[in-house]
Amino acid sequence: MAFWERSVANVLHAVRLNSVKSRVLVFALLATVIPSLTTVRVSYVHNRESLFDKVTTELNSVSSHGARENDLWLKERFYDVRVFSNSPEVWENIQAIQRARARNVSDSDSLDRLETYLAAVRDRFDDYAALTVLDSGAEVLARTGSLSRLKLPDDWLSRVAIGEELRGDAYWDDAQARYVLDIARPIRGPQGTFLGVMAAQVNFHSVGESLRAANIGPTGHVYLMGHDGRLLISSRVQQVNIVDKALPATTVELLNEVASLEYAGARGLWVIGTLDKVPLSDWVVVAEIETAEAFEPIIELRNQTIIVLVGLLLTVGLLAYLFSLIIVRPLGRLNAAAAEVASGNLNVEVPVVSHDELGYLTRIFNDMVTQIRQSRDKLEKLSITDGLTGLFNRSHMMETLKAEVARCKRGETSFAVLMLDIDNFKDYNDAFGHLAGDEVLNKMGVILRESSREMDYVARYGGEEFLVLLPDSTLDGCVEVAERIRERLGQERYSTGPETRVSISIGAAEFPRHGDSAEAIIKAADAALYEAKRAGRDRVVEASPDNVVPDDEMPLESPASA
Ligand code: GH3
Ligand code: MG
Ligand code: MG
Repeated sequence: MAFWERSVANVLHAVRLNSVKSRVLVFALLATVIPSLTTVRVSYVHNRESLFDKVTTELNSVSSHGARENDLWLKERFYDVRVFSNSPEVWENIQAIQRARARNVSDSDSLDRLETYLAAVRDRFDDYAALTVLDSGAEVLARTGSLSRLKLPDDWLSRVAIGEELRGDAYWDDAQARYVLDIARPIRGPQGTFLGVMAAQVNFHSVGESLRAANIGPTGHVYLMGHDGRLLISSRVQQVNIVDKALPATTVELLNEVASLEYAGARGLWVIGTLDKVPLSDWVVVAEIETAEAFEPIIELRNQTIIVLVGLLLTVGLLAYLFSLIIVRPLGRLNAAAAEVASGNLNVEVPVVSHDELGYLTRIFNDMVTQIRQSRDKLEKLSITDGLTGLFNRSHMMETLKAEVARCKRGETSFAVLMLDIDNFKDYNDAFGHLAGDEVLNKMGVILRESSREMDYVARYGGEEFLVLLPDSTLDGCVEVAERIRERLGQERYSTGPETRVSISIGAAEFPRHGDSAEAIIKAADAALYEAKRAGRDRVVEASPDNVVPDDEMPLESPASA
């Protein structure tokens, strides 16, 4: 076996894949799973990439649109405040108040008018939480809304006094529960004199509306974020004070560098987001969508693929199982047949059901068993026959005789035996040689076979001694047979010459009359044979109580040689 074959066999053994069935099954499943999973993986990655690109494009348009809108919105607020501050209603009333102050009186009418104007403006514009008019010394003249203290850079008054428009940082207002920011600009008289300050607290109202107008799905989220990461206004209706940062600084940094990014969002869920800077400010607009929603189509596709794959695996598994049965069934039959042969039963034949290698193997197996059976039969026959005459040998005759005794004892029937011995055979051998003697023995076999019935047993009992067992026969019947044999032998001619004659002496006995065992009946027949020899040879003698063989001539234990 090659090294790699041994290695594979070891691995299969180690993972306990010891049956052909399990190997076919595992191979089929692997052959299905590996290409399927590879395909699924490749298409998943591809789909994910293209979906990611699509989502990036969508989010990008939302965030860049949001950034532009914000820029516009901020510019509009400065424009609004400029318009408010330039209103004659404002500077005229301030001048009136100044004039009254110079006279040391209070001009409550002008103050009222100023406040009425501010209230009217605030009513018209939702973006203003509070409007305040301050004098040139930053003292509040009139106000609407709840503004208490302006959150502007420290040097704001001097800067506004020289004509600057200022904006403060966005800050959280507890009363309104939202972020606001303050804008301030100078109020000037017709001749350009600095009269006071118009301050507005802006609440991002319309920014929120425009963010909410963006349509990026149920989990989509667009928000305006301050430079420190605080969420100023969100597309989500519920505005909460996110004290913690909406995004960690590192995420913001990364978002600044790439078109889009996948990161853990404020709610702890994975999101895809894009970021755009609001021009001329330190704000950014972020558009996000939860990864789960963005990739929902491929998750659906993935689930469908898993269902298809499971179905495929079940089908392939079932087919592989059936297929392995087709292979394993004949192997199992061969196995069982081989076990039968091993246990000694050679009468097995495995049906050949296919024309493949297994069918070939089965045919070879059947041929092999047939050959073993034939050689066994041959051996068996050899073991019970005599090589020279083709008759049964002595040991087989003894077995048959014992079986016949048992059968007759059961059925209370009788049988007869003839014990035959060629006369003066030693002399014949001496005169013509052993080959000529063998010829006589051979002829004797033919004569005995031809003179007996199909049911009789004929055996070469010893050198030139024969035994014939005649079932269901009496002494009279068997004496007749014996005489026939004797006469035939007497007429037989041999190659040694036309004058050559061979005679035979025969003893006959009947069971159970002359003996009730195999040994006893042979002893009786032998005694009769001895009597025939003694009486002059070439004759048949029946057993009788008078015939007694001397013990030293008993042929029972060794082949007769007397
Ligand atoms: P008897 O009439 O008393 O039987 O005299 P016999 O010579 O036949 O008696 P004995 O038992 O003395 O001789 C048997 C002879 O048979 C001896 C042996 O040479 C011969 N013999 C035994 N087996 C064979 C054999 O296979 N072939 C040949 N050719 N001769 C055999
Ligand atoms: Mg003899
Ligand atoms: Mg003899």
